[in-house]
Amino acid sequence: MNAIRIHQFGEPSVLKYEAMDDPSPGAGEVVVTARAIGVNPVDTYIRAGIYGPKTFPFTPGSDAAGVVEAVGAGVVGIKRGDRVYIYGALGGCYAQKILCKAQQVHRLPEKIGFEEGAAIGVPYGTAYRALFIRGGARPGETVLVHGASGGVGSATVQFARAAGMVVIGTAGTEAGRKLVLDEGAHHVLDHTRENYLEEIASLTAGRGVDVVIEMLSNVNLGKDLGILAKRGRVVVVGSRGPVQINPRDTMGKDSDIRGMSLMHADDAELALIHAAIVAGLENQSLRPVIGKRFALRDAAQAHDAVMAPGSYGKIVLIP
Ligand code: NAP
Repeated sequence: MNAIRIHQFGEPSVLKYEAMDDPSPGAGEVVVTARAIGVNPVDTYIRAGIYGPKTFPFTPGSDAAGVVEAVGAGVVGIKRGDRVYIYGALGGCYAQKILCKAQQVHRLPEKIGFEEGAAIGVPYGTAYRALFIRGGARPGETVLVHGASGGVGSATVQFARAAGMVVIGTAGTEAGRKLVLDEGAHHVLDHTRENYLEEIASLTAGRGVDVVIEMLSNVNLGKDLGILAKRGRVVVVGSRGPVQINPRDTMGKDSDIRGMSLMHADDAELALIHAAIVAGLENQSLRPVIGKRFALRDAAQAHDAVMAPGSYGKIVLIP
């Protein structure tokens, strides 16, 4: 099989398309023939050496979808030929064949295609954990999805709308703003416009928003504190640097800033999250949006694209 391998940290050009031995499953493991692979911003941080494996070579990637090719001893409930999506893998997902632990594969409902399946793991897991588990968002509350046009943002809009929240999303392009409305937001704002957050007052009758799901905290955290309702929560999902805030802004409203990393989800929480995701895929309240496709051998181009402005749903690799 062929896979992307990284032999040194660096720019996208360190992603090398190479021939490798096919994996075979040990006890409790599964091999999946990949049909599509998800590209996440975190893959670029791992490629650059900010986190992740420190031994070379390794194959990056944690999201994919495909067909089970082989199962190891002791695996129950998964068989050769099953359609699955993957979140997390033993061998990395940027590969034609992916070795996983059995609990890292989840049934892909019949009506969901493989590309959409590759867009589930990190974005929908993050959206669920940020909105419901860390954000504690409840039906009837107002949620600002600050950065709603990308993978995590569009998933968050879908979860929030289906759960009965009032949803405000932001995007930086016309196409992104249309996507945000199409995926269920009640209102959309342009985060490239000066003073766009002033509209929150009129959209919430002066109350402010109960929850902010924040994709770019280093730019927005200070401003987010100013648009919260009493007892509001900002969930820090994405941040690309430091930011200055005024802590006093949290006192006047009893508000919270809550960090969130999907990596902290334990097995029990992941089981809960994926049960909710599969149910949402089945009832079609969750509909992964694919914006761009690249061949697996062109993973470097996909890494440039995922860090560029003008997000539109997910980027996938086709093996
Ligand atoms: P993505 O698909 O690249 O989307 C990025 C989003 O950020 C887009 O909606 C983009 O909007 C938006 N954005 C750009 N400028 C913004 C601004 N000034 N204010 C608000 N939003 C802005 O990335 P993703 O997969 O959704 O991930 C989003 C962030 O969360 C990334 O930083 C990622 O590393 C992080 N993340 C964290 C976790 C975790 O466990 N904490 C998990 C997954 C992802 P436009 O392109 O329309 O301008």
